[in-house]
Amino acid sequence: MSQLTSKDADATETDESSESALMTARRQLKRAAAHIDVDDGVVERLKHPTKVQRVSVPLKRDDGELEVFTGFRAQHDDVRGPYKGGLRYHPEVNAEECIGLSMWMTWKCAVMDLPFGGGKGGIAVDPKRLSNEEKERLTRRFAEELRDVVGPKQDVPAPDMGTDAQTMAWFMDAYSMQRGETTPGVVTGKPPVIGGSYGREEAPGRSVAIVTREAIDYYDWNLDETTVAVQGYGSVGANAARALDEWGADVLAVSDVDGAIFDPRGLDTKGVMAHDERPGMVSGYEAPQQLSNEELLELDVDVLIPAAVGNVLTANNADDVEADLIVEGANGPTTFAADSIFERRDIPVIPDILANAGGVTVSYFEWLQDINRRQWTLDRVNNELESEMLKAWSAVRDEVETRGVTWRDAAYIVALNRVATAKGTRGLWP
Ligand code: GLU
Repeated sequence: MSQLTSKDADATETDESSESALMTARRQLKRAAAHIDVDDGVVERLKHPTKVQRVSVPLKRDDGELEVFTGFRAQHDDVRGPYKGGLRYHPEVNAEECIGLSMWMTWKCAVMDLPFGGGKGGIAVDPKRLSNEEKERLTRRFAEELRDVVGPKQDVPAPDMGTDAQTMAWFMDAYSMQRGETTPGVVTGKPPVIGGSYGREEAPGRSVAIVTREAIDYYDWNLDETTVAVQGYGSVGANAARALDEWGADVLAVSDVDGAIFDPRGLDTKGVMAHDERPGMVSGYEAPQQLSNEELLELDVDVLIPAAVGNVLTANNADDVEADLIVEGANGPTTFAADSIFERRDIPVIPDILANAGGVTVSYFEWLQDINRRQWTLDRVNNELESEMLKAWSAVRDEVETRGVTWRDAAYIVALNRVATAKGTRGLWP
């Protein structure tokens, strides 16, 4: 496919919810690079993905009709280890989005100091339109099309929007059948019975909660008196909300695609089923008040956690946000322009590449368990996740304190320093 030029993504555009992940990712890279002494050539290399695979995925529908979908796998950088990142099934998946998201994975793995680089892929398809059997056939064929570019030492996919543990099981099975050997390490986020890790499913939400707790402590607030609103009650949002609720915070509002529910005395986060547990349960829940998703973002709470989709906090609503702290559960929920508004308004934003990095961190634990063919207990997973999150948190916090930069810039500085040093040390071949 044609290489995207920097011009495409660097173009100055008005802030719209259509800002592409690649545009945002490149602007963030440029901003972070300005803070540190990093070789221009290295930054230029990091603006571009190493490789983007574009494949056709034909599917025989249950009614016998044939439909052809388009799939992608963007591999941004592997200087620190195999490409790592999710596969999403969503109608809006395209090459540029995958490249931007793969770049974020490079930083996410580096900020966590994991021996991985960044990848992301997916299929432009609405998974809700497919039967389970169709999803299985589509996934198996996709695995076959990507067979040469993925592998435990090359590129290790994982679940993302629209995919789950079962999708990973089919992918792993298809890959293993073709290789003639069971290869659990080709993907992470599998069910524990075939080499998945306990705690992987809850991990992104858990890390959002851990980081929120640390931020509350950093600003000398009290978790028991903290109010929280969570946009998106899927795996990330529900797990974050439930952990924070358990640790004493009051979760006042949560939402799914159809709308939000609000209880000024705090919701029973376990009683409200997550969107993937029971679709429609959130907006259908009997709460004192129903709100729209937009209204949720502007609630007067202490902490706002956007955990649904990208680009929900934009120049159009950033001035109306009343929360005192934003913790990003989704990937890329804040546009570049909204970020500047929050900086001007002194509202700290804890970035996705740190906050939801628990997912890829437990993916790393899973990959280690697969290599060693030995499963860890849930306690061990959660203890090690806690300690990895605290380590990353303190590296980022140190940059915030010494340089007086935003949390996002600080996380990028930590990540870019690690990636650029590895690139400089390895050098350019040939
Ligand atoms: N899709 C997840 C993310 O955006 C997880 C990636 C992984 O575990 O490889 O971080």
